[in-house]
Amino acid sequence: MFLHANLAKKAPMSSLVSAVEVDLDLIRRFDQSGPRYTSYPTADRFIEAFGAEAYESWLSRRNVGGVQRPLSLYVHLPFCNTICYYCGCNKVVTRDKSKGDVYLKHLAAEISLQSSALSDHDSRVEQMHWGGGTPNFFRIEQLAGLFHDLRNNFDMDPNGEYSIEIDPRYADAAYIMQLRDLGFNRISMGVQDFDSEVQRAVHRIQSESLTMELIAAARSCGFQSVNSDLIYGLPKQTLVSFDRTLARVIDASPDRIALYNYAHLPHLFKPQRRINEADLPAPDTRLKLLGLAIKRLTDAGYVYIGMDHFAKADDSLAVAQRQGRLHRNFQGYSTHADCDLLALGVSAIGGIGPTYSQNFRGLDEYYECLGRNILPIMRGIELTADDLLRRAVIHTLMCHFALSKESLAISYLIDFDSYFATELTELREFEQLGLVNLDEEWITVTPKGRLLVRNICMVFDRYLHHDRERRRYSKVI
Ligand code: SF4
Repeated sequence: MFLHANLAKKAPMSSLVSAVEVDLDLIRRFDQSGPRYTSYPTADRFIEAFGAEAYESWLSRRNVGGVQRPLSLYVHLPFCNTICYYCGCNKVVTRDKSKGDVYLKHLAAEISLQSSALSDHDSRVEQMHWGGGTPNFFRIEQLAGLFHDLRNNFDMDPNGEYSIEIDPRYADAAYIMQLRDLGFNRISMGVQDFDSEVQRAVHRIQSESLTMELIAAARSCGFQSVNSDLIYGLPKQTLVSFDRTLARVIDASPDRIALYNYAHLPHLFKPQRRINEADLPAPDTRLKLLGLAIKRLTDAGYVYIGMDHFAKADDSLAVAQRQGRLHRNFQGYSTHADCDLLALGVSAIGGIGPTYSQNFRGLDEYYECLGRNILPIMRGIELTADDLLRRAVIHTLMCHFALSKESLAISYLIDFDSYFATELTELREFEQLGLVNLDEEWITVTPKGRLLVRNICMVFDRYLHHDRERRRYSKVI
């Protein structure tokens, strides 16, 4: 069963006002490890038995049944010029630009294999995102070649949303304008923190004036949306220094702001071992940094979308949330709920029909498969009826903070209260603490519960029953 339903369409008005209330005591109490639910089941549940053959088969029949779902493309460009110590991404740090040419050659082969696995007239793309790594590791001519390959293989909607991540340290205004000419209309720039001590501690020296200049350039050449990424909890960060960064970012007025929590997991991410743990803000300061950022951003008119994301009230994300059309995927939140996500490049994760899959994480294996004309799928999963139902519950709560039990019951042919009897009992504890409201028809996350929506969703995660497993994830806040 693979049903799509607009499960938040009739949300109570209170839930449509995206207020968030910071209750530090409650956050302290629930400061445990938990997944981010960019997918459900989470990627660590994917299995190797789901390989290239299974993926290809789903790709070719993704629209069986007559519903023509458009595509969203994700393109992973893994190279970076230097290492940032906080990094937890899949990247290759090198100054050797020729490695980029080898990669693009293989990516072109993957694009061609993936597009030929689609059935006829099934390649309409409404949305695309290029992430990394550092996409602007590449020269503009190299990116132009890649865009050209994609246009040749897919039917790119002229009114689509095309976005790219940029490291401002390796771009200038002319480069930004050339990206616009290529066809990108959304851009995301990493800021993290403008404070020079913080920048030294994380090995990412990035001039504030250059960042501002690039944001201005993006505006002047017609990018429809500019996003800035910030991180709290970095070494040497203080309330005073971060307040200054926030003020500068608010002055630059990006349409969207992502505010990530630095998760210090040096046993998983080697570069983080170069961070001096003594420089990390104390847990209490970390929470105050979060509280400060939320206050500054919401006072400045940004709407809290959920899980690390803020947007201006007239931005398409905030509008989609108000209209019950918001969707969650591997890039966070998206306005394109009806798209299948076709992922390209090393380590990229996609979702086609009721499946998820991930490409090989190492360049060698990725190149080796493509050299043999095989799609480089490392692992994946075909969702069961129970997975699909729980994914709908989790993503609806994450996107809209409210869930109509009746909508779920109708879409998935279940009696909600008996199917989720155990979960509803568990939710009573959250209700007593004022984090959720439970009534006959709705589960509603209160403004106080919104920062803890991950914890609320974890109640519905069938795979997460043991505390031992929970410890493997990053902290919730
Ligand atoms: S944070 Fe971004 S730019 Fe820095 S090493 Fe990681 S992927 Fe590269």
